[in-house]
Amino acid sequence: MSVKQDIERLRKELERHNRLYYLDATPEISDFEFDQLLRRLDELEKAHPQYDDPNSPTKRVGGAPIDSFPTVVHEPPMLSIENAYTLDELREWHERVLRGLGRETVEYEAELKIDGVSISLLYENGALACGATRGDGVRGDDVTPNVRTVRALPLKIDRKVKRLEVRGEIYISKRDFALLNQDLDEEEQLANPRNAAAGSLRQKDPKLVAARRLSAYLYHVVSVDGRQPESQWDAYALLERLGVPTNPQRALCATLDDVVAFIETWRERRHELDFDIDGIVVKVNRREEQLELGATSKAPRWIVAFKYPPEAAQTIVRAINLYVGRTGTVTPVAEFDPVRIGGTKVVNASLHNFDELARKDVRIGDSIVVEKGGDIIPKVVDVLLDKRPDGAEPFAVPEHCPVCGEPLHRFEGEVAIRCINQGCPAIVLQSITHFASRKAMDIEGLGWQTVQALLDAKLVSDYASVYELTVEQVAALERKGEKSASKLIENIEHSKTNELSRLIFGLGIRFVGERAAKLLAEHSRSLDALMNATAEELVGIREIGPKVAEAVTFHFSVPANRERIERMQRLGVAPVHVATATGDRLAGKSVVVTGTLTRFSRDEIHKLIEREGGKPASAVSSKTSYLVAGESAGSKLEKARSLNVPVLTEDEFLALIGEG
Ligand SMILES: [Zn+2]
Repeated sequence: MSVKQDIERLRKELERHNRLYYLDATPEISDFEFDQLLRRLDELEKAHPQYDDPNSPTKRVGGAPIDSFPTVVHEPPMLSIENAYTLDELREWHERVLRGLGRETVEYEAELKIDGVSISLLYENGALACGATRGDGVRGDDVTPNVRTVRALPLKIDRKVKRLEVRGEIYISKRDFALLNQDLDEEEQLANPRNAAAGSLRQKDPKLVAARRLSAYLYHVVSVDGRQPESQWDAYALLERLGVPTNPQRALCATLDDVVAFIETWRERRHELDFDIDGIVVKVNRREEQLELGATSKAPRWIVAFKYPPEAAQTIVRAINLYVGRTGTVTPVAEFDPVRIGGTKVVNASLHNFDELARKDVRIGDSIVVEKGGDIIPKVVDVLLDKRPDGAEPFAVPEHCPVCGEPLHRFEGEVAIRCINQGCPAIVLQSITHFASRKAMDIEGLGWQTVQALLDAKLVSDYASVYELTVEQVAALERKGEKSASKLIENIEHSKTNELSRLIFGLGIRFVGERAAKLLAEHSRSLDALMNATAEELVGIREIGPKVAEAVTFHFSVPANRERIERMQRLGVAPVHVATATGDRLAGKSVVVTGTLTRFSRDEIHKLIEREGGKPASAVSSKTSYLVAGESAGSKLEKARSLNVPVLTEDEFLALIGEG
């Protein structure tokens, strides 16, 4: 197979897996396997730049940061949609449509209203040419580099289509939203999938956009080669034929009763969906009739959005509790009489921060309305002032940590109020619990209750001291027998040689979630290397942005953090890095190394060549596949040149094996 064919095959294969993941929700391969295929393609493209293509799946990981977004003029404008909040309002709209058309009946198309952000796409000669935000409806931002990272969108469609302009919605599935939040620090947590999607498209760093795993559904064909489909139903048929993602949940409705039946079906079933919807969009199906109805200055007359009311309940605030998180952030949480909303019992709702608490002015004793929208987190949406009891006082912003009593701080530019006492029991408790958690060091038996007991007994003071514990000490704790104490110490002992990424995640570095920890481990291969890495170096890792890179270097610049790690190392903690990539990138290749290398010892590079299925050789011959040449390479380099053997620098070698 030629290189070109190989590249084409990989591109097709990767796009197929993108569709399986984002459109069909039936992935055939793991994220890791996907990354391996992507790396392989990336190497081939780098080695053969003549086959470069801005629409290659490799471009989806995001390119260089963007300074500013050029303006795009929407022609026709992206109008807003009229809303109907009740079925009566929907009937009124229906009557207006019938009057406007002078007819007794009209065919509608009904579909889910996905709660995301609008996007307008242009495909030219079968390839994605532009992606723009809605903006004010007339002028939007050209966010093409970000749109390319949306793996749910095809970068190529049927080449016979010269020009397709299509509009739709970018969103984040509930599953991907949960994954995204898992990787964020408590105060960085995104409130709901919609906010997460909205903030993504105008990100200046496409790498961050790529990491957000955005999905998309398109629903409006503006024009295809200068024409418009005859109906909304036909438009969907066309989009499906072109492989453009569309939501399959839609109905052709001969009567308004059919529309209402569709609305009622999804009122119940919307919680089963893997994405949030906030209503049902109803469109006059036939294009001809749409044109006949036209538009007002604000919205087309042939389309309406029926909005489901959010599920809400009234209750009474009994307390405002303060929680101190792992990073010291103090969060006020309203505790109220239990209510059932959206099928679950709710007893408290986060007030997020003290600015938010002051804005809402929630007081103990207040009657409040709690709402639970599509997102999982309940929120206080209203305080019923006429029901406020006499003498209810505004909640005072605490000046001291509710746990350790030390003064609280508010850093410039931050909303959060924090306890900065590294010895604060709340912070220590949570950081040790996090360290021992299943996704970090996975120390079974070291849950927060045990950590609390150990802290109370002054047996631990930080995560490093966990490695100083003895069976006798643990056995002396209440409710811990000799047997469970030995088991715990055994588990602690066992964790010393954990996978490096687990330890990195367990350190609780700001912004370093599970995935970032894996990437950092893969890149640095040892804790020492990571501790000494520069921000510039880290930012070079795919998917690692400047914020994470700076947080990592800052963490290791704090002497206490380094000392804690060194203490752990003295206690025998020696994480291992299992090279996950046992590749075949150099299968059957003979590689000669010469000159002085800056990154590897001779032994290390030979191991890498072997890991990739290649054979390290000492002499250059016509059978040599590559010569890796370092500083002051001599006769071998000359010989390689005379035999036309490809010569690689260390960086090129790394790129070849996918570590560039
Ligand atoms: Zn404190």
